[in-house]
Amino acid sequence: MARADGAGLSAAGTGCQGGGMRILIVGAGIVGAALADRLTRPDRDVTIVEELWPGGGTSGTSYAWLNANDPHDPVYYRFRTEALRTWRDLAAGLGDPDWYRPTGNTVWATGGAKAELADRVRRLTALGYAAEQIDAERLRAIEPHVQAPDDAFIAHFPDEGHIHGEPAARGLVRRAHDAGAEVVTGHRAVRLTLDGGRVTGVRLDDGRDVPADLTVCAAGRHSPALLGTAGLDLPLVDPAAPGSAAPCLVATTTATDSVLNGLVHAPGLSARATGNGGLVLEAVELDAGIDESVSPERVQEVGEELLSRARAVIPGLDADVAEMRRCVRPLPIDGYPLIGPQAPGLYTAVTHSGITLAPHLARLIDREIDGDPAPELAPYRPDRPLTNTGG
Ligand SMILES: Cc1cc2nc3c(=O)[nH]c(=O)nc-3n(C[C@H](O)[C@H](O)[C@H](O)COP(=O)(O)OP(=O)(O)OC[C@H]3O[C@@H](n4cnc5c(N)ncnc54)[C@H](O)[C@@H]3O)c2cc1C
Repeated sequence: MARADGAGLSAAGTGCQGGGMRILIVGAGIVGAALADRLTRPDRDVTIVEELWPGGGTSGTSYAWLNANDPHDPVYYRFRTEALRTWRDLAAGLGDPDWYRPTGNTVWATGGAKAELADRVRRLTALGYAAEQIDAERLRAIEPHVQAPDDAFIAHFPDEGHIHGEPAARGLVRRAHDAGAEVVTGHRAVRLTLDGGRVTGVRLDDGRDVPADLTVCAAGRHSPALLGTAGLDLPLVDPAAPGSAAPCLVATTTATDSVLNGLVHAPGLSARATGNGGLVLEAVELDAGIDESVSPERVQEVGEELLSRARAVIPGLDADVAEMRRCVRPLPIDGYPLIGPQAPGLYTAVTHSGITLAPHLARLIDREIDGDPAPELAPYRPDRPLTNTGG
């Protein structure tokens, strides 16, 4: 196993002296796209290979909430707050594109869940995170079309937001391309190529070899399959295992009349606007029992249930389910990112919460490729001992 200290990652370490270091990124989801954007510079030859199109995988179907809304692990909380800062800087550098939506997030809880939400607001506020309890009048000002029960505890997190995953990935890949990266879409990397124990690039589905001094696996949920071609493991939750937390369903609705300004988390429903006037709806507990063989009838039932919950939260909502998307979370078995060298010539970057984390990971990985190890990544190496938390 390669050491996670940047050794073997620099151009000198790969025997690529003097010329541009050849970096190959497999996968143009938000993680690969942010990497391509960050890593491309004149002294590097960056290529990104994507089987579908930028954002065509999980990133394009994600709920895509940018947050550090859990104070429970202080190290990961800080990592995520840094990630939110990195997103703000990145978006500002791109002229605040339409797909970056720093809209704020409104959450409410009822019954026994109120104490937990109140405690979360208190702990996050103490950490300096923007979090506040709001009343019904303030809710009406923030989300005029939304109705919470009279006895709800309502919280607002003004610094959170979301992105639209597919245009975000596209925008970042386009900027990388404009800066000199080669973009190969519509081709799958069928295997890693090896010379002795070193990964030397990939073979594509048309038989072409793409050589590289450093191959970065950013293939999301498909990473174990690619890494397996070199005999390497990646501990992701198996979407085919009974009761797996990885498969999920997301609904998008037909266009509505701008009924949500930001993200809304009500009991049993997460909702936000799509980029074309509809809503994205999801409810994690409705994913229980969903697997890759879920019947079309069950998918439709979940869609109807999500819509009915949305109508309870947004009285008078005039929309139907436009599309039900089946997706699979790239979920490490302990829930934390898997980031670092896995073999000579190979670096892995796979994570849940990849929407929130991608630009921050890209910034840190850029540093590591320059031979400067990032201590922030030390807890998240792929070779750490992992405990299965079931996701
Ligand atoms: C329903 C849902 C809700 C979520 N909510 C949030 C949230 O609110 N906030 C948050 O931060 N995160 C959230 N996530 C997680 C987040 O979406 C993912 O962590 C993130 O999108 C992963 O990005 P990625 O680039 O690693 O993977 P992907 O977007 O899947 O990109 C990987 C790409 O690699 C390509 N690929 C795979 N194998 C190959 C190959 N062999 N050759 C070539 N190309 C290949 C795929 O086509 C794909 O485009 C959610 C996920 C889901 C499913």
